[in-house]
Amino acid sequence: MDKTRFLSIPASPTAPMSYPGPSAPSRLRRLVQPTLAAAVDLLYPRLCCGCKVPLRPGVPSSGTQTWFCQACEKSLFWVEAPYCRVCGEVYDGAFSGEFRCMNCSGRRLEFEFAIASCEAQGTVRELVHQFKYERRLQLRGALATLLLRTLEEPRLAREPLADWLLVPVPLHREREKEREFNQSWELCQRLARLTGIPASRALDRTRETDTQAGLDRRERLRNLRGAFALRKTWPWQKKVALQGRSILLVDDVFTTGATTSECARVLRREGRAQKVVVITVARG
Ligand SMILES: [Zn+2]
Ligand SMILES: [Zn+2]
Repeated sequence: MDKTRFLSIPASPTAPMSYPGPSAPSRLRRLVQPTLAAAVDLLYPRLCCGCKVPLRPGVPSSGTQTWFCQACEKSLFWVEAPYCRVCGEVYDGAFSGEFRCMNCSGRRLEFEFAIASCEAQGTVRELVHQFKYERRLQLRGALATLLLRTLEEPRLAREPLADWLLVPVPLHREREKEREFNQSWELCQRLARLTGIPASRALDRTRETDTQAGLDRRERLRNLRGAFALRKTWPWQKKVALQGRSILLVDDVFTTGATTSECARVLRREGRAQKVVVITVARG
């Protein structure tokens, strides 16, 4: 993907985020699209992803209202401060300034920090489950729209995100064949389309690992060692160029951070990426 194309677009002074922005639609598309969308809405009303009630005709073509009714939108558990500055876990109570939670103290994580859009509760928990395990691929648009919220995190919002690269957490080839898609790559592609940030499948999962459930932190890390490698591009078997890049590692849910930390280790140590930030739809 040609990165310079995005870099040449000046940021709007009113834009709350500094990602490159979607490519401008053609004049004809600008004229035809709203009329067409209104006609389709009338014939086939869009349904709320959460509760399936028909959405009112003329729903906005971007943002959470495209996907959710007002009640479901209000019921989302957005990740809001105070949260751990490393793992993004939300805490109740009064915290002044940034803090690192007990789980992260004394723990070596290879990514800079992780941030999720929502807590894995209620509607979001249900949608992620349906997306991943019931193969409801049509939910990827709604989930990518939620994921967009992570880019408002103050540490990301002040960065020129045009310089970043979206990379999905890979699935093992057999697992992907079985599921028929990689949920993280689907989210990456949708987020790339919404923001103009380039996306690349820079990692491969070379080994399927035993289930992580029931393992302690050290066992999880041992279990994951050597499970990921940089993807080699056909036909020259060259590795994807990551040197000096800032990477947004994308996944659906963040739980312990063991998998994403191991991915970040490979991206940084082997790919020589400058830094890795993990963004997920949900915080488990
Ligand atoms: Zn609803
Ligand atoms: Zn933490």
